[in-house]
Amino acid sequence: ITRIVLASRPEGAPTADDFRIEHAPMPTPRHGQVLLRNRWLSLDPYMRGRMNAGRSYVPPIEIDGVMDGGTVSEVVQSLHPAWAPGDLVLAHAGWQSHAVVDGESLRRKLDPSGLPPQTALGVHGMPGFTAYAGLHEIGRPQHGETVVVAAASGPVGATVGQIARLRGARVVGIAGGPDKVAHVETDLGFDVALDHRAEDFAEQLAAACPDGIDVYFENVGGKVFDAVLPLLNDFARIPVCGLVAHYNATGPAPGPDRVPQLMSLILTRHLTVRGFIQHDFIALYPEFVREMGQWLRDGRIRYREDVVEGLERAPEAFIGMLEGKNFGKLLVKIAD
Ligand code: NDP
Repeated sequence: ITRIVLASRPEGAPTADDFRIEHAPMPTPRHGQVLLRNRWLSLDPYMRGRMNAGRSYVPPIEIDGVMDGGTVSEVVQSLHPAWAPGDLVLAHAGWQSHAVVDGESLRRKLDPSGLPPQTALGVHGMPGFTAYAGLHEIGRPQHGETVVVAAASGPVGATVGQIARLRGARVVGIAGGPDKVAHVETDLGFDVALDHRAEDFAEQLAAACPDGIDVYFENVGGKVFDAVLPLLNDFARIPVCGLVAHYNATGPAPGPDRVPQLMSLILTRHLTVRGFIQHDFIALYPEFVREMGQWLRDGRIRYREDVVEGLERAPEAFIGMLEGKNFGKLLVKIAD
């Protein structure tokens, strides 16, 4: 089998040297386990956090450990009663061609005749669920309110904006570069899309939100957050989902301490700022699978994928994602 392991912990942005490709003999399953052949690997921003040592919401990947990741996999051999050879499943089998996992750990069986199976890693899987749960449970957009989301061409942001529109909100998307901006406005149907790299981005955002911002779905942090802050309305909700602009940071940002001003704004504008990890809302998952499945079949939610061919290209694609080089849900096609 082929696999990619963590060779060293990155200082700042990861480099190719932080990963190592290895070959190993085919593992054999024991009682209760299954042997999987991985077809699709999902690359997600959270993996950057797993490369660091230290406390987070899950333990880090060990040095020389296989990189973590969601997969769409085929069962090759099963010693678990629920799974049979040939089943296509949603798994967490990591950056490798094959894996042995506990049958209990498999998330769901995929219908090969239904939606494209790799959507179970994107819009119809973890990122889509993140959007669905964070928006409904924390953002709670009301009809006519203004919702703002960045990384708007990615699987979380694209889904946040489209669901918010289905709920009757006005949606402003933020993305990097003219192609992504055009996609967000034209293909995804956001009311407005803006480029966060524009010189006058903060002014453009203010002009795009004449009634202020009621929900800011936080995916990025950085200067997008700075531009959003003064525009927040009383009782605005901020689901804090991700801070990708800071994932490669090596220390505190320079400049004066602005925490007191931020806290004061949270107080005087009655803001709800709530961090979440999608798993907090796992009780909603079956409802999400059903409702999103219907929206996708009806064409009410659209999605875009960025497919990289071959496991060996995963490190370079992952490094690029943290700089915004991906355009849509980033997937590695490992095998047919
Ligand atoms: P994306 O495919 O959207 O990839 C990340 C994107 O972030 C890049 O493409 C880039 O898009 C944007 N970006 C990177 N740096 C910056 C920056 N400095 N300023 C503004 N934008 C930047 O990723 P996902 O949709 O998978 O994830 C989106 C967010 O959701 C991430 O923060 C992720 O960690 C978080 N997340 C959280 C979960 C949770 O449970 N809390 C679960 C899943 C995801 P562009 O070129 O448009 O700037």
